[in-house]
Amino acid sequence: MARIWTGEELGRHVAALRGRRLAVIGYGNQGRAQALNLRDTGLKVTVGNTDDAYAASAGADGFEVAPIAEAAAHGEILLVLLPDEVQPGVFEHEILPALSPGRTVSFASGYTVAFGLVRPPEGVDVCLVAPRMIGRGIRQLALEGRGFPVLVGAEANASGRALETALGIAAGIGAGGAGGCAVESSFREEATIDLFSEHTWAAATVALLGACCETLIEAGVSPEAAILETYASGEIGEIGRAIAELGLVEQLALHSTTSQYGHLTRGPEYVGEQVRAKLRRALAEIQDDSFAREWTAEQRAGLPRFRELLRRARAAPFLQQEDSLYRRLGRRGEGAERQGTT
Ligand code: NDP
Repeated sequence: MARIWTGEELGRHVAALRGRRLAVIGYGNQGRAQALNLRDTGLKVTVGNTDDAYAASAGADGFEVAPIAEAAAHGEILLVLLPDEVQPGVFEHEILPALSPGRTVSFASGYTVAFGLVRPPEGVDVCLVAPRMIGRGIRQLALEGRGFPVLVGAEANASGRALETALGIAAGIGAGGAGGCAVESSFREEATIDLFSEHTWAAATVALLGACCETLIEAGVSPEAAILETYASGEIGEIGRAIAELGLVEQLALHSTTSQYGHLTRGPEYVGEQVRAKLRRALAEIQDDSFAREWTAEQRAGLPRFRELLRRARAAPFLQQEDSLYRRLGRRGEGAERQGTT
């Protein structure tokens, strides 16, 4: 069983950060939310960013902002909150020179360290504090006094207190609020399960929802009704919340008996031995590094396959109906609400 810290027990670990200089590198989805929450916990944070719109946003939020190399040199604890694809380059040129022994570098995802794309030097603590929550949620939940789950770990523990620091960061970014927790993990485990979710149920859900819409429309259902029923109503989000709160099967109690009967009789048919074999293959591709190698090669080639697949996905005919519907509902076009961190 993994070690787990919850509520006040986790919140107390914030003491591990007191008196230590924090630098948040990157002010995007995670960077902004984590920096704001750390500051609300009473910690002093410097933001490191290229001098552009994100830096301006950090300045407008009242943070001291410096170029990445300067913020890295200033911070005793560096939270690297840059996209995984840009981390290797920025790390090597702007962060590594600042990582003298005794410093701590922390990541919100295990990917780059687990697959050897970023190699922190000897003598520093290397922490993992990986929220299972998007940046917007991290900020909003903290404002409501609620927490969220994070995976924490220590890849290198030069000081002997790396896990303590990781727990301090988890507490400082608000994970210890009501309902939150920190679960002990590792860079490799975090990267594996994150990729596994992306490659299996998340990817398959998007593909299946599209196929459901196409099947209904082919059978004469109006695109508006088909798309609203399948995903645009937001019911899918409510079911996700119910699964998180009540459990995978217990949430069925919120559905009608007719719906429960349909779930129980039809659902398992989709997960036969063929699908289980696909799941095992997806896991093997992650564990033997072949996915990471494929993705690195694709990025180096300038993303040709990625762009082509996105073009094909966008060309599905029913998405034109989605576009008209979303415009009618005010979700797209002029006046549509901008998505961002609270
Ligand atoms: P974002 O895409 O939101 O990061 C944007 C930030 O990165 C900006 O500050 C941007 O500044 C900076 N940046 C982008 N490109 C460069 C570059 N070439 N050089 C220097 N800075 C750059 O990232 P996320 O917040 O989504 O992800 C950060 C980390 O958190 C990742 O490790 C991710 O896996 C992890 N994570 C993300 C989650 C999410 O919900 N998004 C959830 C859990 C973990 P500028 O463009 O101004 O240079």
